[in-house]
Amino acid sequence: MTCETHYLQKLGIHMETSSKEQANAYKKRDKKHSQKSEEAIKKIEVPTDKIVCGRNEVPSRCGTCNSQLMIGGPIWHDKIHNIDFVKQIHDKCETDVGKKFGTVDRIKGVLGGIIDEDELSHKPLSFDLSQICSNLKVINPTSREIISGFTSLNYKLAQTYYDPTLWKTDAPPEAIYDIIKAYKKQLCEKEKTDFFLNIHKESPMMTILQKPLEIEPDFNMEKLEQNKKLRKYFVAPEANWGPKARATGGKDKK
Ligand SMILES: [Zn+2]
Repeated sequence: MTCETHYLQKLGIHMETSSKEQANAYKKRDKKHSQKSEEAIKKIEVPTDKIVCGRNEVPSRCGTCNSQLMIGGPIWHDKIHNIDFVKQIHDKCETDVGKKFGTVDRIKGVLGGIIDEDELSHKPLSFDLSQICSNLKVINPTSREIISGFTSLNYKLAQTYYDPTLWKTDAPPEAIYDIIKAYKKQLCEKEKTDFFLNIHKESPMMTILQKPLEIEPDFNMEKLEQNKKLRKYFVAPEANWGPKARATGGKDKK
């Protein structure tokens, strides 16, 4: 039973420095020798790229369950889609050429999912909310309830286009766990009376559940936009679809 909290430690940060910024920085550093500065500034003409070492932003222990952290990666953490290109292809699906494809709804769904997720493109990793619910012994909320809970606290939330159980959010991990805890407290009839039912005393989940809850998300926001009914995930095209029996070269037909 592991906690889903994760932190990113950037190995390097890409900095773009324009010649003007560089020149101003030089001026600041070299106030006394203005003549020398002017000469140096003249030499700085071309904008430069540089990578600087990432600072340590990771706490020594997990901020949610206080367990020891494990190291994983490295991973690519920057933008991964060219969103203008994705939007162009999405628009193409609406044309007569696009509509010829039998799988056009699914293509639109996947592309729409990528577009929806774009506002969280700076978040490379996702959270398995059903796993979190299972660990905290909470009944899975509906997608609408989950979206409502996060939105009511002004957090962004998007279901990933590659797995319906995985969600990306800008909420910190502590807040994610608190939202699920709040759901347990507000809407799970059985668990309301025994909040720690079936939770092991020594487990990280007990630590999480014992922390005081300071937020009150609204899981039934009336103003919430209706979910798009696009087919985002793979659906088998026919019954018993899948690999057929191996080819026999007609031998069995004798
Ligand atoms: Zn943890």
